[in-house]
Amino acid sequence: MRTLFTAFLLLTATLCGAQENTTPTYGEVISRYEAIARSHAKTVRLIETGQTDAGLPLQLLIIDGSGRFDPEQSRAKGDLVWLIMNGIHPGEPCGIDASLRFAEKAAEKPKEGLVYAIIPVYNVGGALNRNRTSRANQNGPEEYGFRGNAKNYDLNRDFIKADTENTFAFAEIFHAWQPHFFIDTHTSNGADYAPNITLIRTVPERLHPMQRTVFSREIMPEIFRRSEAAGEPLLPYVNTRGGVPETGIYAFNDLPRYSTGYAALFGTMGIISEAHMLKPYPDRVQATLTLLETLESVLSERRENLVALKKAAESATAAAKEFPTAFRLTDEASTVEFSGFRADTLPSKVTGLPRLRYNRNKPFTEKVPYYGTFEAERFFTLPAAFIIPQSQKEVIARLEANGIAFERLEKDEVREVTARYIDTYETVNGPYEGHYLHHNTSAFGKKVSVQFRAGDVVVPCNQKGNRYLAHVFDPESPDSFFNWNFFDAFLMRKEYFSDYLFEDTAAEILKRNTMLAKKFEEKKQEDPDFAADSRAQLEFIYKHSKYSEPEFMRLPIFETDHF
Ligand SMILES: [Zn+2]
Repeated sequence: MRTLFTAFLLLTATLCGAQENTTPTYGEVISRYEAIARSHAKTVRLIETGQTDAGLPLQLLIIDGSGRFDPEQSRAKGDLVWLIMNGIHPGEPCGIDASLRFAEKAAEKPKEGLVYAIIPVYNVGGALNRNRTSRANQNGPEEYGFRGNAKNYDLNRDFIKADTENTFAFAEIFHAWQPHFFIDTHTSNGADYAPNITLIRTVPERLHPMQRTVFSREIMPEIFRRSEAAGEPLLPYVNTRGGVPETGIYAFNDLPRYSTGYAALFGTMGIISEAHMLKPYPDRVQATLTLLETLESVLSERRENLVALKKAAESATAAAKEFPTAFRLTDEASTVEFSGFRADTLPSKVTGLPRLRYNRNKPFTEKVPYYGTFEAERFFTLPAAFIIPQSQKEVIARLEANGIAFERLEKDEVREVTARYIDTYETVNGPYEGHYLHHNTSAFGKKVSVQFRAGDVVVPCNQKGNRYLAHVFDPESPDSFFNWNFFDAFLMRKEYFSDYLFEDTAAEILKRNTMLAKKFEEKKQEDPDFAADSRAQLEFIYKHSKYSEPEFMRLPIFETDHF
């Protein structure tokens, strides 16, 4: 039945015009944008920004009816900037095609006060790596790019760790234009259902409370209403809770490593569109195009409000000290009207075990539970400033790329600061996007005296990037620089002791430090393994002595209350 149905879909697509089941090559995409820019020279420009790992620059199309093409002037005039990013996963090119068609139309008559920033294809290297097979479960187009970039990174995990030149080029665009709204276009994986397209929206709790309510209660419902009126009913992206959609759909926790989670750190409302992988390619492109048109009208009407809100949220963020840095999905459910297909369980011809099949002969529409409410499970309080030794070049480069203002110490000085020590952490067993990611981290602060040097970096926590600072420097936040391995060199001692020599020193230490001696005795009483392990006992005393290096387990990110 599925084969027949697929054949039918392919036939329909063929009748619609065989060319529509194709997507242009990277070169063709850029040529078409060049043509749009040439024929609308006053209002459209194709700009080369930073480099990508493929050795080609990242291209950005700006449509600006006022002909300014200047982000600062746009901000001064109260324009609303929206950023459309396509082809982060070039195997999911619906948005690449939809944006071309959308830009051709928008260039004719851009809405007043809107600046359209379109990244034609973000993952340039992946787009150049064309193939016909890597999207095993997708219905067309015939040929498309690959998910990994030129260095085989998934760019949609790279926004914080920034292992790629693409990410630095994106940050350049993002912080120059400071979009009010951001959409990242994709094609789905997963369940089968009726609508052509679904949306992931940033976890509203990631935004400043001023923006949160407007985003979740006004903008998102408006997008859903208008899209449905335009003939494209939307659904929240279908992550199933309990195996099939009927038992519930839950919202995705878009950590800052992902595009929309990252955008939210800087007060940009974001959505990810997921055109449905099994729908004919032309329908997916059309659904993505309808969504872009819907957004254009919603953003145009709400322009003044959204621009004012972002500005107010930025000031409030610069003045705030405490930020939520980890979120968890609650059990609170609303309902969504869901049009899908009943799932059957039948024996697999491959494994002989039960398999799931969505039966398109059994369509249904019913209200299903939607779990979309998150709550903060952790807060981090920023100091007045962070002080970062100049040796932490990778960290400093990422702060700079993300528009974080900092100064450098003019002279050497000793400062009393708070250091964060890692208490416990776990590490994944296999590499994840080029890293051995840590998680379940716990840390504690301790006052220490540190010698800083001229040229070390002082980052004041009084800026609109405060939320970003909280996430990357709270070691317990899931996407902190610590968890992404920036400080792994501090997780191993550089100096040690020899047992036979330290024996006498340890005895001396216990004699002089009665508090430590008491703790030591208690530990021996409580922990029989410890009591039987002479090396562990010496290690315990070493760790609590002046001989243990202060750098061990200490993050090279210091907090000061004086700035
Ligand atoms: Zn994708």
